Amino acid sequence: MDAASGLASVVSPDSLVEGRGRFLTDLMGRGVAGTAEAVVLPSTVDEVVAVMRWCYEHDVPLTARGGGTGLAGGAVPVHGGVVIGFERLNRIRRFDPLLWRMHVEAGVTTGDVQRLARESGLRFPPDPGAAELSQIGGNVACNAGGPHAFKYGVTRQWVTGLEVVVPPGEIVRLGGPLRKDVASYDLTGLFVGSEGTLGLVTAAWLRLVPAPELELPVIGLYRDVDGGVAAIERVLGSGVVPAALEYLDGATLGYAGDGYPFGLPPETGFMVITEADGSDTEARRVAAELRDALDEDAVAVHAPVQPAEVSELWRWRGGVAFAFIAQKGGAFSEDVAVPLDHLRDVARGTLAIGERHGVAALSFGHAGDGNIHSTFLFSPDDPDEEARADAACHDVFALALELGGSVSGEHGIGWLKRDQLEGQLGPVGYGLHTRVKQAFDPKGLLNPGKKR
Ligand SMILES: Cc1cc2nc3c(=O)[nH]c(=O)nc-3n(C[C@H](O)[C@H](O)[C@H](O)COP(=O)(O)OP(=O)(O)OC[C@H]3O[C@@H](n4cnc5c(N)ncnc54)[C@H](O)[C@@H]3O)c2cc1C
Repeated sequence: MDAASGLASVVSPDSLVEGRGRFLTDLMGRGVAGTAEAVVLPSTVDEVVAVMRWCYEHDVPLTARGGGTGLAGGAVPVHGGVVIGFERLNRIRRFDPLLWRMHVEAGVTTGDVQRLARESGLRFPPDPGAAELSQIGGNVACNAGGPHAFKYGVTRQWVTGLEVVVPPGEIVRLGGPLRKDVASYDLTGLFVGSEGTLGLVTAAWLRLVPAPELELPVIGLYRDVDGGVAAIERVLGSGVVPAALEYLDGATLGYAGDGYPFGLPPETGFMVITEADGSDTEARRVAAELRDALDEDAVAVHAPVQPAEVSELWRWRGGVAFAFIAQKGGAFSEDVAVPLDHLRDVARGTLAIGERHGVAALSFGHAGDGNIHSTFLFSPDDPDEEARADAACHDVFALALELGGSVSGEHGIGWLKRDQLEGQLGPVGYGLHTRVKQAFDPKGLLNPGKKR
């Protein structure tokens, strides 16, 4: 029996979708698309259980899909089988603003959670860049971060409980509306970042914090990588805690700098963007301290305070990726993470790797977390250039490992980095990793070909 007919007997006919195209790929690029015998969009947790049971009974691969904004091919059904999408499992089960917590189903978008929290003066701090499309289930599965991870941490810090469907089709509830729980191995934490390979997340209890009253950016401009990285180190050494500590290198500014709202002096070769937040008084105090730390050796320091100027800054920053992608039409942007003392090695190394492969290179990223988006541009009409850009990304992975870092600080392993994990973990660590997978998914049917 084919999967579509088989599933039709266990889920509502409306839950099976005909047009499968948009469920076969994500935003990784690289021309990788999967295949699916069936795509199912359950509206209830019981349907998720039924799909898992059916797949497990019939040895059919099952790939979870959230908003499809992943950049590592995690949601691509490379081994075929069934795709299960969560967009209809999108209820807010409970919101307790006075207790700073929310219980949401996996398909609620990150943007909706952020908005709902904000309306009650709260904040859900993880802020990955495609928040209007990405889903909480996908954020949990990838342990998503974003600029504010520097002060607030990544998704794992904000999930206190999960409801997960595990093979061969059981519901398990871990944690809950608890702020502390050390009873078991951290099973909740294990599912965060598991990329759909251990179970299907159907709902999450999220922790929230009071939203800051004021957020003030302070930007330092420097001649080169050394000047910029020294400024980042001064910020860290000063003991002041910015909400965000980001950078853009000179190559990035070469493509996007024209639109920078406060004007880039021609000698600028590196930008550091920090943000102070807190109560009105606290944010202003932190902003002044950031200004002091950024000032030394700066070509200029800009500290906009008017709401319109601040919005203009973030609007410009939001468009930076479009500016560099527009150069050639294509870009591969990776997400390695390294110890902070190696930030400059990756910023410089990215340019050297690009040169070696004959592709335009740039880097930017979450400097305070040592999480760098090394980026290589290519024309989609030039397969050879695209292959060289891809090879450059693999050299960046190798560089990160050489420097004691990780091949992924944000996007996950997915399909793209499937051959990287063993090198990062070593034989013993990788053996443990494999045994964890076997313990949860003995038939290896959940998102096969990923995170391995
Ligand atoms: C413009 C842009 C900016 C981005 N910026 C950031 C950033 O700043 N920080 C960051 O961390 N990421 C960023 N990303 C990457 C991506 O948005 C995040 O990884 C996001 O968390 C993926 O969520 P999604 O719902 O789109 O998941 P998908 O892409 O659909 O899936 C990602 C993985 O999660 C699994 N999965 C999805 N839902 C479930 C579920 N319910 N249960 C089990 N497994 C599931 C899938 O199988 C897959 O392995 C960015 C992407 C884009 C396009």
